[in-house]
Amino acid sequence: MVNLPKGTKDVLPKDSYKWQYLEKTARKVAGIFGALEIRTPTFEHTEVFLRGVGNTTDIVNKEMYTFLDKGERSITLKPEGTAGVARAFVENGLSNLPLPAKLYYITPCFRYERPQAGRLREFHQFGIEFIGSKDAGIDAEVILLAKSFFDELGIKNLTLYINSIGCKECRKNYQAALREYLKANYDSLCDLCKERYHTNPMRILDCKNPECKKITAGAPKILDYLCDDCKDHFEKVKSLLSLANVEYQIDAGIVRGLDYYTKTVFEFVSNNIGAQGTVCGGGRYDDLLEQFGGNNMPGIGFAVGLERLLLLMENAGVLIPNSNAIDLYIANIGEKEYEKAFVIAKDLRDKGYAVEIDHMGRGIKSQFKFADKIKAKYVGVIGEDELSRGVIKLKNMASGEEKDVLTQNIEEEIR
Ligand code: ATP
Ligand code: MG
Repeated sequence: MVNLPKGTKDVLPKDSYKWQYLEKTARKVAGIFGALEIRTPTFEHTEVFLRGVGNTTDIVNKEMYTFLDKGERSITLKPEGTAGVARAFVENGLSNLPLPAKLYYITPCFRYERPQAGRLREFHQFGIEFIGSKDAGIDAEVILLAKSFFDELGIKNLTLYINSIGCKECRKNYQAALREYLKANYDSLCDLCKERYHTNPMRILDCKNPECKKITAGAPKILDYLCDDCKDHFEKVKSLLSLANVEYQIDAGIVRGLDYYTKTVFEFVSNNIGAQGTVCGGGRYDDLLEQFGGNNMPGIGFAVGLERLLLLMENAGVLIPNSNAIDLYIANIGEKEYEKAFVIAKDLRDKGYAVEIDHMGRGIKSQFKFADKIKAKYVGVIGEDELSRGVIKLKNMASGEEKDVLTQNIEEEIR
């Protein structure tokens, strides 16, 4: 037997309705906020992620699935959604459309990580990118969109954490202050953070190593280094969230994974699914599009990890509706009865009903058992007697009520 690769998962037929439900809800909520879907390739030139994610990030440093194709081009499976969208936005001249462009995507992502609960090598994201507006109102809208998605799914107990990491200007001063603070403990930092100290010290705030966490606990806070413009922006985002009655906490430790994040960054976190509690991460990226040769256009987005979301919903007992139910199972025995059942099934399917009949040569008792297993809403029986009278013996499986129904009236009964 050949097994699936480590860190990947099959979605089996018994579970696929959950995914369909998440995707349907994502599309619905995105639509309510005026977002349209964008689909970009599963693989890109590696360059896209070097530019769009940044070479001081974990993703680029450790996690990418990169290979040379047969034409000797360096190709990478997308580790996240934003870079591909930014590339497509510039390449297709979408900045000429009315702004802000409101885009959403649902995509598989690939990262070479150590697999554990809520951490896979192939996982899926629902993401949003709103491009073209610097306005703090757009930040608030993007956060509200994520919140609406979780509300629509019936998820409670998520905490929204927000922070501002400023612009290039405020970060210059902050990074200097951070380096100054970390200098004394440089030797105790993990190897990666030693490197980060030189390339991008803010990354150290994101390190999961307990020793590094201890060191950064008392570090200076970026919020104290914001320029007036960034401070203003953050105040506006906060006050709009309050206007919308959205509760949030400020967490100066959130710096997020992309190099090009600016100003607002945020996460929705559950304390329900252990270490991998962040189900949604997002932020503003006013310096990203210029990496792709676009005119410097601001943007903000988020991505929700759908595997983590499902894990969270299952742990919290959130109901996931299954709309795959069979409307009618027609049990039958004998050649003529089968033909009658076959025709009824055909006619009702033409009208959009989900109908099943036996194709396994089962006895009548096993047919009933099968109907029960597939959770048919109604079970009809056609035996010799029913056939001669032109009826079907129809049972409502929820109420247990049973009656003979003329075959031409079945639709009325099961509607
Ligand atoms: P983490 O800190 O947990 O590694 P991240 O900062 O790398 O997360 P992002 O790049 O912000 O994650 O991706 C957005 C969301 O995608 C995460 O909040 C998470 O829900 C999900 N996600 C990220 N990596 C994985 C993975 N390997 N497996 C499953 N879901 C993931
Ligand atoms: Mg990660």
